[in-house]
Amino acid sequence: MKTPLSTKQVMRYNRQIVLPQVDIDGQELLASSRILIIGVGGLGNAAATNLCGSGVGKITLIDNDIVEHTNLPRQTLFDESQVGQSKVMAAKVRLSQMNSDCEIVSIEASLLQDNMPLTAGNRAGEERTETNSAEEGATKTGATELEKPEINTHKLFGEHDIVLDCTDNTQSRDLINRLCYKHGVPLISGAAIRFEGQLFVAKPGESQCYACLRRLFSAPELSCTEAGIFSPIVNIVGTYQALLAMQVLMGVGSVQVNTLLTFDGLQHEWQQWTLPATLQCDVCGNQNKDVDEG
Ligand SMILES: [Zn+2]
Repeated sequence: MKTPLSTKQVMRYNRQIVLPQVDIDGQELLASSRILIIGVGGLGNAAATNLCGSGVGKITLIDNDIVEHTNLPRQTLFDESQVGQSKVMAAKVRLSQMNSDCEIVSIEASLLQDNMPLTAGNRAGEERTETNSAEEGATKTGATELEKPEINTHKLFGEHDIVLDCTDNTQSRDLINRLCYKHGVPLISGAAIRFEGQLFVAKPGESQCYACLRRLFSAPELSCTEAGIFSPIVNIVGTYQALLAMQVLMGVGSVQVNTLLTFDGLQHEWQQWTLPATLQCDVCGNQNKDVDEG
């Protein structure tokens, strides 16, 4: 269902609407879109900025981190005065100022890897999660220690049109992938470390999933706290997640599935890696319709 645009909105989004691939229909689709962004670190900041500015209807942000000085080089929604504040609340303030057309919902909450996928504790009336920031804090623990007035995952995933995984740890990524397949919601996964970026799109019912990709990489991941991250890289990847999300929502262009997209920011090389067709997967059932294309 599309949301009709006002005259003021048609003027505001004119530079997108003049693109034949977007047009009024595409912009109205964006205006009706509900997007779940999990992780409000560098990836989430960049993705939310682009999606909010581009005129999506609703963005739900989940994270339980606070803004730290070490976030400021990359996480451009935040400023020095917000250090110590909740990331989701700080981001909501900035995004709401950026575009009052876009409804921003902030949830401080924690993703868990057990049978109670999402739980929450309370702080200042906000729900909170243990989703780490996009590129920091991967070694954090304590998710299971939170209280459990829970978020309804069925509602959370079922009521959004697309999910952006902007977290930085495999436990969260695995859980988000399972929930996306359970609820049939497309997933745009992004990752960044050092000068390197990765992107992966999963469409339940149509493609292989993030677990299929993960099976190829058994080594534990290194966090950006340990390995470092070059600020533009995480912004490029987060912005690219927003691009892919809008393409999937509007159905324009060619979005590759069953494919890992990697970016080397030092050599300026993008590469595509097709997932092997022989994988077995209990999450997606190896829905690899397109897997032999590459
Ligand atoms: Zn799979």
